[in-house]
Amino acid sequence: MSYQADITIIGAGVVGLAIASRVASEDREVYLLEKNETFGQETSSRNSEVIHAGIYYPEGSLKAKTCLEGNILLYELCQKYGIGHRKLGKIIVATHDTEVDELEILLKRGESNGVDGLKMLSQQELGKLEPSVKGVAALLSPSTGIINSQALMRYFLGSAIDNGVQVAYRTKVVGIDKASGEYKVRVEDSGGSFSFMSTVIINCAGLYSDEVAEMIGVNVAKVGYKLHYCKGEYFSVGNGKDKLVNRLVYPVPKTGEGGHGIHVTLDLDRRMRLGPNSHYVEKIDYLVDNSQKRAFYESVVKILPFIEYDDLEAEMAGIRPKLQAEGEDFKDFVINHECDKGLPGFINLIGIESPGLTSAPAIAKYVSNLVNEALKN
Ligand SMILES: Cc1cc2nc3c(=O)[nH]c(=O)nc-3n(C[C@H](O)[C@H](O)[C@H](O)COP(=O)(O)OP(=O)(O)OC[C@H]3O[C@@H](n4cnc5c(N)ncnc54)[C@H](O)[C@@H]3O)c2cc1C
Repeated sequence: MSYQADITIIGAGVVGLAIASRVASEDREVYLLEKNETFGQETSSRNSEVIHAGIYYPEGSLKAKTCLEGNILLYELCQKYGIGHRKLGKIIVATHDTEVDELEILLKRGESNGVDGLKMLSQQELGKLEPSVKGVAALLSPSTGIINSQALMRYFLGSAIDNGVQVAYRTKVVGIDKASGEYKVRVEDSGGSFSFMSTVIINCAGLYSDEVAEMIGVNVAKVGYKLHYCKGEYFSVGNGKDKLVNRLVYPVPKTGEGGHGIHVTLDLDRRMRLGPNSHYVEKIDYLVDNSQKRAFYESVVKILPFIEYDDLEAEMAGIRPKLQAEGEDFKDFVINHECDKGLPGFINLIGIESPGLTSAPAIAKYVSNLVNEALKN
C-alpha cells in the first residue's frame, strides 16, 4: 500500500464493497479497510437475504428510492454474473378483516413508490396460491426475491480488486484528522499502527458508523447520527415443514415495530426460517434467546397452522443499526457529503439498516456521484 489515497472506504460489508466496485478506476488510488479477518462478517451476513420490492418506505425517502432501484440493479447483476437468486415473490397476509385496510394502505404506498405488479388476493386466491397459508386476504408482491448475499459480496469484491482497489483486512480505523484539505487516517493492524492521507473518506462502518463520524469531530447526538442497536433473531423450521410454502410469507406489520414482523423466509435451498423479531439492545452480541421460541411460534401459527412448537430451532441473529430510538418514528438512511459541516470529501453513511442489502448497488451509484463531485472541487 502506498500512503496516499484518493478514496478510502471504511468497512467491507455489502455497502462498502458495492461502493468500492463502483468508484474504482485506473486513475484512482482506492483503499477499502476492514477491521475483521475478511469481508461481510457483520450485518451483511446476518440478515434475511431478501431482495425487497420497496413497499414499506415513505414515498421519496432514500430507503424507497434506493430499494426500488437496487431491486432492479440486483436482478440485472444476478442474471449477468450468475449470482444465486430467486424471484419467488412474497405475500403479506391479513389474518383478520381488521387487517385488510392495512393491506390496502401498503398497496397504495407500494404503488406510489413505483413497485410493479402488486396485487390484492382474496381468501380464495390466496388458498390457490399457497394452500398451507391461512388468511382472509393477502397482498402479493411478485418482484420480491432472495439472493445469496455471500456470492453478491464476492462479486463486488472481485470487481473492485479487478479495478485496482487495495483491500486491507484486520485493519481498523482508529482516528481521522483533517489536514491541509485532506484527511489523515490512523489505522491499527497486526503490525502496529500507521497513518496515511486520503482526499475522500467514505464511512460505511455499519454498526460503528456513528463512532467513525465522531472520529472526525461530528457531534453525532446533535446532528441525529447516534445509532441504536435493534436485534433480530431467527429460528429455523425443520421436520420437513419447510417445503410447504413457495413464497416468502409476511404478517401485516404493526405500527412501531422495528422490522417487518416475524416472517417466513426461504433460502436458495428452500430451507425455511422464521424471523427476525425486533428488540432494542445496549450491546452487540449474536446469541439467540431460546426463551423467544414460544413468541415466534405464536406469532406465525396463525398464518402457518402446520407449524408445531417443536419444529423450531434457534438459528442466528443480526443487529440493525437504527437511527430511530425505541418508539420513535421512521428515520431515513443518512448518506451525506458533509460539506455543510466543514468536511468536504467526507461522506457518511449512517443507519443503513434494511433494505440496505437490496439498496447496496443503488447506494453505490448515489455515493459515486458524491465522490465525483468531491474530487472535482
Ligand atoms: C436481522 C436483519 C435482517 C435484514 N434483512 C434484510 C433483507 O432481507 N434485505 C435487505 O435488503 N436488507 C436486510 N437487512 C439490512 C442489511 O443487512 C444491511 O443494511 C446491510 O447488510 C448493511 O451493510 P453495511 O455494509 O452497511 O454494514 P456491515 O455489513 O455491518 O459492514 C460494515 C463493516 O464495517 C466494518 N467496520 C466497522 N468499523 C470499522 C473500523 N473502525 N475500521 C474498519 N472497519 C470497520 C465492520 O467490521 C463491517 O464489516 C437486514 C438487517 C438485519 C440486522
